[in-house]
Amino acid sequence: MKLFKETPLKTKIAIVTGGTRGIGLGIADKLASLGAKVIVAAIHEEKIKHTFIHCDVSDMGNVKAMVVEVLNKFKKIDILVNNAGIYPPISFAEMQEEHWDKIISVNLKGTFNCTKAVADSMMQQNYGKIINISSIAGLVGYLGLTHYSATKAGINGFTRGLALELAPFGINVNAIAPGGIDTHGTKETLQGPVKDAFIQAVPLKRLGTPKDIAELAAFLATDASSYITGQTIVCDGGYTLI
Ligand code: NDP
Repeated sequence: MKLFKETPLKTKIAIVTGGTRGIGLGIADKLASLGAKVIVAAIHEEKIKHTFIHCDVSDMGNVKAMVVEVLNKFKKIDILVNNAGIYPPISFAEMQEEHWDKIISVNLKGTFNCTKAVADSMMQQNYGKIINISSIAGLVGYLGLTHYSATKAGINGFTRGLALELAPFGINVNAIAPGGIDTHGTKETLQGPVKDAFIQAVPLKRLGTPKDIAELAAFLATDASSYITGQTIVCDGGYTLI
């Protein structure tokens, strides 16, 4: 079903972090199909149809340089999708400080860095849509993902507080909490019997796709969602219902 008849984002400039593959690429493609000019920021360049800027989101220097480049070239930023993230599983017993620090620096600090770097220009123009890609792991527990769950629960709290602070500037801040989505990143962890058992636990009996998340992100990026802010919206085929 088509949610949009036209190209509601045709004058919009969007940054999608980690948009070279998986959920991020799905979102980048969808926003572009609605008319947005999409800039993808990630570490490794891939052959994609969007403007690519090298950026490690955990490095504030990289992030500031990326945002300056976008502003110099496109003059404004309307949409930021904080999607870049990692989820290497490891038990708490095996986890060392460096495992903890690494995931916090990419998932949580990366979200802070990119938001901080775009916030001034969004506040000046009194308009913006910030979409944080969280996870159902921020709402329920998973074995081997304590560090990851902490980052995603952190993103949910960040989303609520930031929505309050940026509301006076016409900026909507929301998060999406995907369930199990079929991407490059989940190929190793969601495989064989583990994948089958996971699907059995999903009421809609399938893994999600990047497109499922992209449709929701598109809604949050347009003014169709202008009265929604501070929310973490679950998109998981019903997995967390039971
Ligand atoms: P993928 O591993 O398929 O893609 C991750 C993307 O993030 C890549 O473009 C990668 O590019 C980029 N990236 C990783 N680290 C950095 C960094 N330090 N700086 C900039 N870019 C970076 O992941 P998914 O598509 O599966 O996941 C995307 C998001 O969705 C993540 O935040 C994840 O936590 C979340 N999520 C995923 C779920 C799933 O089941 N797949 C479920 C719930 C949430 P490069 O390697 O070049 O840096």
